[in-house]
Amino acid sequence: MKLTIKNRIKPCYVCNYPITEEHHMAERKKFGNNKVTIRLCANCHDLFHLIKNKKDLQELGMIVVSFGGMTNRLIKIKELINESILIEEKIFNDAKTIRSNK
Ligand SMILES: [Zn+2]
Ligand SMILES: [Zn+2]
Repeated sequence: MKLTIKNRIKPCYVCNYPITEEHHMAERKKFGNNKVTIRLCANCHDLFHLIKNKKDLQELGMIVVSFGGMTNRLIKIKELINESILIEEKIFNDAKTIRSNK
């Protein structure tokens, strides 16, 4: 999508910040272009990927501490990550079904 002002003036799903970018719920690197997208501001977008890609619980702990606790923002992002994992599993399982039906 082109980065026009019109495309970017949409509120963040997590924090309502008015300028956002498109985030693909299923990682494009692994699942190709997909249409399940939400709008996230740059900070929430960064946080989403940071938390999702964390290597261990200690790293998640470091992020939580930097926010002074499990804030509403972090809770919402955690929920989104769980949702995105479900969406990725569904795409993965659908693809498997299609392959095994051939
Ligand atoms: Zn945000
Ligand atoms: Zn993203």
